[in-house]
Amino acid sequence: MGIERIGVVGAGQMGSGIAHVCALAGYDVLLTDVSEDALATAVQKVSGNMDRQVSKGLITAADKDEGLRRIDTTLKLKDLGPTDLVIEAATERETVKQAIFEDLLPHLTPDTILTSNTSSISITRLASRTDRPEKFMGFHFMNPVPIMQLVELIRGIATDVPTYDACKGVVDRLGKTSATAEDFPAFIVNRILMPMINEAVYALYEGVGGVLSIDTSLKLGANHPMGPLELADFIGLDTCLAIMNVLHDGLADTKYRPCPLLTKYVEAGWLGRKTDRGFYDYRGEVPVPTR
Ligand code: NAD
Repeated sequence: MGIERIGVVGAGQMGSGIAHVCALAGYDVLLTDVSEDALATAVQKVSGNMDRQVSKGLITAADKDEGLRRIDTTLKLKDLGPTDLVIEAATERETVKQAIFEDLLPHLTPDTILTSNTSSISITRLASRTDRPEKFMGFHFMNPVPIMQLVELIRGIATDVPTYDACKGVVDRLGKTSATAEDFPAFIVNRILMPMINEAVYALYEGVGGVLSIDTSLKLGANHPMGPLELADFIGLDTCLAIMNVLHDGLADTKYRPCPLLTKYVEAGWLGRKTDRGFYDYRGEVPVPTR
């Protein structure tokens, strides 16, 4: 299966990053979103991030021009029909993702591989609603995509070997490293990371420490580059809560119950950096802990 044309669905923080790295690796990228604004913002963001790479000497100005030229945008999902690989990176809601694959199916070539960048939703269940469960798998990039080295490759129960090998080949060409995960709730990274973040929120909730004490402890005491609460703000507290709920529902173990304080922050609309307030308040010059 030769992959040259990649369709990316969803032009948010992940979709724009995926388009960025695929274009720099020489793939032709067609990026789609339901929002024209999201598409325009994504192209601007890719250009700005490529400028940063040029100024650091990681790529040349010619690489940037060539990369940007390889990214096309469209509001019509069906335009992705002739691509070799589709990477779905739309909002983390199962109904949204299912509808995207359903709408796309009639326009696809028989060989197109379908993948999802979902952080937690069952690949097997998404695949089962398509006409090609054996050509369907999880392609889980980390945020920010141009910087993070790992891609988790998740096999659904029906995923066949040529599909896995083709996706692994794409990860290799991107210059990234893959780790293989079987299809269980939240896969590997978030299965381990989210309970740690949730436990940090419990420590805050129970008054074991304040925001700064908890983040400083993990940074200096466990050598983590970011504290767990700072990291939660970066990921998005709504996303963290959604993943904890998937773990709790999918594994039916009370050890995954989301901390009530995490739920409260989400109810308040304090979702982290994207809303300027979460465990830290980002509205001033420097982030200020909110507890
Ligand atoms: P985001 O909110 O930044 O972007 C989602 C985009 O999807 C938006 O631009 C939205 O307009 C678009 N969209 C919604 N419905 C659509 C549809 N029907 N067709 C086309 N586009 C549609 O979200 P994100 O952080 O980029 O997350 C996207 C996916 O990546 C999710 O599945 C998420 O779980 C996963 N993910 C996120 C992170 C992270 O740290 N944020 C990390 C790894 C994986």
